[in-house]
Amino acid sequence: MNFIADAMLGSLAKRLRLLGFDVLYDHTLADNEILRLALEQGRVILTRDTGLAARPLARNRVLIKSDHVDDQVQQVLDAFSLLAAGLLTRCSICNQQLSPLDRDSAGDRVPEHVLRTVTTFFECRGCGRVYWEGSHVKNMAGLRAKKEPAT
Ligand SMILES: [Zn+2]
Repeated sequence: MNFIADAMLGSLAKRLRLLGFDVLYDHTLADNEILRLALEQGRVILTRDTGLAARPLARNRVLIKSDHVDDQVQQVLDAFSLLAAGLLTRCSICNQQLSPLDRDSAGDRVPEHVLRTVTTFFECRGCGRVYWEGSHVKNMAGLRAKKEPAT
């Protein structure tokens, strides 16, 4: 997993590098350059800037919520632990890769009880379908169960 961090996230960039992630950080980069490099190099944008996160080209990004670097590291690890574990990587409908989706963006697209309990969402880059850990795993288990003979 490769990242590019915005100018406000120098401490986070250093911590993620220590954890072995490839993180591009240059505080002189303008938003447009961050977007271009992210697309060219396949990097996930890490940003504290809601304006940058809302840009259409910034689809593959994590909007960092906290000012505290420990919380920031945790947010990134939470967002990518499922991807890293290979549990949630591809859309079951159209086979496109999933990208992390922040909670605010997931807001009006998932049931309210899910939004209350789940913090980590993913979005299909192809069809825009939203996934989250609990339902996805349960749904997959449910589909398998239907095909298995009753015991
Ligand atoms: Zn899809």
